[in-house]
Amino acid sequence: MVNGFLVCAPATAEFTTPGSIFDHHCSRCRQRVMLATSGQKILKEKPALVIICAKCYLTDESLLADADIRPAGPIEQMLDDLFRRRPNPFLRRN
Ligand SMILES: [Zn+2]
Repeated sequence: MVNGFLVCAPATAEFTTPGSIFDHHCSRCRQRVMLATSGQKILKEKPALVIICAKCYLTDESLLADADIRPAGPIEQMLDDLFRRRPNPFLRRN
């Protein structure tokens, strides 16, 4: 049984929010992803979630075919992350 996926933005996304971490990778393409504070909380509560980047999620038709798409966590917290977004400092790292 699949436990579900946590769809994450790539670490190279244009925006991030304070408190985001960059130490996880997409389980499919292995690119580095970012986890906002809401995503970190969700992963702590449901550690069996499979991390996948938005690109792999949107391009894998087998995933979309029988997807049961839900917000991973409380909308309020995800909106809070969205409203606190700022340019991604990870992009300036070497
Ligand atoms: Zn991926």
